[in-house]
Amino acid sequence: MGMHPYPAQVLNSLRGRNPWETEFLQAVEEVFESVSPLFELNPQYASEAILERMTEPERIISFRVPWTDDQGRHRVNRGFRVQFNSALGPYKGGLRFHPSVTQSSLKFLGFEQGFKNALTGLPMGGGKGGADFDFRNCTDRERMAFCQSFMSELYRHIGPDIDVPAGDIGVGAREIGYLFGQYKRLTGSFHGVLTGKRLEWGGSLLRPEATGYGIVYLADAMLRAAGEGLEGKRIALSGFGNVAWGVARKAEELGGVVISLSGPDGSIHDPEGIRGEKLEYMLEMRLSPRDEIRPYADRFKVEFRPGRRPWDLPCELAIPCAIQNELDEDDARSLVRNQCRYVVEGANMPCTAGAVEVLQGAGLVFVPGKAANAGGVAVSGLEMAQNSARRSWPAEEIDTLLRATMETIHDTCLQVAEEVGQAGDYVVGANIAGFRKVADAMIDQGLV
Ligand code: GLU
Repeated sequence: MGMHPYPAQVLNSLRGRNPWETEFLQAVEEVFESVSPLFELNPQYASEAILERMTEPERIISFRVPWTDDQGRHRVNRGFRVQFNSALGPYKGGLRFHPSVTQSSLKFLGFEQGFKNALTGLPMGGGKGGADFDFRNCTDRERMAFCQSFMSELYRHIGPDIDVPAGDIGVGAREIGYLFGQYKRLTGSFHGVLTGKRLEWGGSLLRPEATGYGIVYLADAMLRAAGEGLEGKRIALSGFGNVAWGVARKAEELGGVVISLSGPDGSIHDPEGIRGEKLEYMLEMRLSPRDEIRPYADRFKVEFRPGRRPWDLPCELAIPCAIQNELDEDDARSLVRNQCRYVVEGANMPCTAGAVEVLQGAGLVFVPGKAANAGGVAVSGLEMAQNSARRSWPAEEIDTLLRATMETIHDTCLQVAEEVGQAGDYVVGANIAGFRKVADAMIDQGLV
């Protein structure tokens, strides 16, 4: 389906003004294609300049992060917070510390986050931040020094009713601890200003598991809608961080067989399935300063495939959980050739636009990250609610809410896709459902 002239013209103008922001343009184009059917019926979106406003972050803070390494050398990184859209609530979204971080990648992530957060039904706007910092081979003291310096600037821009960051790639409970400690020292207040905190000092039960569990709950709903189940399905997974860990745990519990993991050095193939002590070992690998998957192969005597991604392994379901654009057109063709039938994005935009075209063209069911991985930020929203109430809810209650949220997101995607005559297209359903909420709230709140 072609793009409506209004989004086409806004995209063109963005391309002219932001030609180097390739990830951001990729994310915008995908949303614009999906929401095109709305503009014939709702000319108000154009007269209110909704797309022009929606693609311009409310604010981008860019700052210097100076710190000292263990050799006593002064180092400088680039830090950002992109406060994209606050129509639905305080800015909410993670912090990513990874060498790939640029203004473009954080704009793409912040843009997507706004729609994802809208899908959860919780009052959260969209934001994202981070730094081009490489944690590999860093000592714990260096991580702490970096986090403290990062927060020494960020603290003046965030707050429990303003902007509530969380973790993402390179930022787990340990980093959230250092960031929180520095925030508290600088402001003198114990606020629910970050989520993903450790349980004992304001964290939520199930937040570490939430992203992965949510992905599996959504995959389960998708399989049931197709008249199938997770039982016995071979699942190709990439990454080995927090998201992949949560997926592996819940998939195992529901009878799926996770056969792969990957890192920057390659992938492992474990046809027996990742379960039991192997899941524990994933946690150990994550805490190690080496960013490699090879140790898993050495430890459990399975095949290590240097430099290769998992997408040529025969599977019924693929769940990319590493990073943006990790699954390209060739990988998509391999999946199709091996008769994979479902692809659920665990990471944010792990499939290239070309890959999605190949997958959907071949009739695979494809669920985009902004629907599938919304469980993480949904439980962050619950963490905020618990902090405000100064309470801690039991795990069962959170799990029930998480599962219900993922099922609602699933059903909403299908319902909305059907409404616009594109039944079964989860991309269209997720984008339109998220977009409408944000756009309508922006109209309600006037030209701000
Ligand atoms: N970084 C996660 C995401 O991509 C979680 C964000 C949050 O909990 O605020 O959605």
